[in-house]
Amino acid sequence: CGIVGYVGGQQAAPMLTEGLARLEHRGYDSAGIAVIGSGLRVVKRAGRVKDLLEAMPKRISGRTGIGHTRWATHGPASDVNAHPHTDASGKVAVVHNGILDNAATLRRRLEDAGVELVSDTDTEVIAHLVGRSGAETLEGKVVDMLAAVEGTYGLAVVHADFPDRIVVARNGSPLLIGVGEKEMFVASDLAALVRHTTTVAHLDDGELATITASGFTTFRGDLSRTETAAHLVDVDP
Ligand code: GLU
Repeated sequence: CGIVGYVGGQQAAPMLTEGLARLEHRGYDSAGIAVIGSGLRVVKRAGRVKDLLEAMPKRISGRTGIGHTRWATHGPASDVNAHPHTDASGKVAVVHNGILDNAATLRRRLEDAGVELVSDTDTEVIAHLVGRSGAETLEGKVVDMLAAVEGTYGLAVVHADFPDRIVVARNGSPLLIGVGEKEMFVASDLAALVRHTTTVAHLDDGELATITASGFTTFRGDLSRTETAAHLVDVDP
């Protein structure tokens, strides 16, 4: 339903929960965040952003992270079905808007390979596929995963071995990149960005992006670069 992301010089957790609160008008049943500090930390809950804040440990340190508000399509609203979803190594976290059409097939294939799936969601397979890719870069791992999934997605991925970046992909579900001063934002909705920046890039369907504190690059599923640029958006005061 709603996606946010932050990478920059500030603590990610409060930036993410504040962004999620700005998406509350969309309606949702669960919320969660993943932050990369010294390793990956995930906090997620069925309920509202205030329930998530109550569950939040005092210190979640880290300057790269992603967050999600869920509108359940596969599996009921519950703590385990809330996003972000993680892989078996505990290094990969993903948030996803949309619906994967071949999730059942992919779940079976992963289970046959010995992977234990912990949620009922279509989204969880994304985390496992990224984690199991042999590609050396996070971009390569995400591209490998996308080659296997069918359906609609706006998604964002973080990985403890690549703490400086978020990789995002879009097919049928909006994703925006917000450009700040030595910090960058991701959101599925302008409402989560405008407090921080009005310089925004819109991803196209079939497009991916890497976001670091210093900027972003966009590319296709074959890793060839695209020219998507940020522009100033008009925001009603
Ligand atoms: N299909 C995913 C799920 O049920 C994502 C739903 C959403 O867009 O929030 O968890």
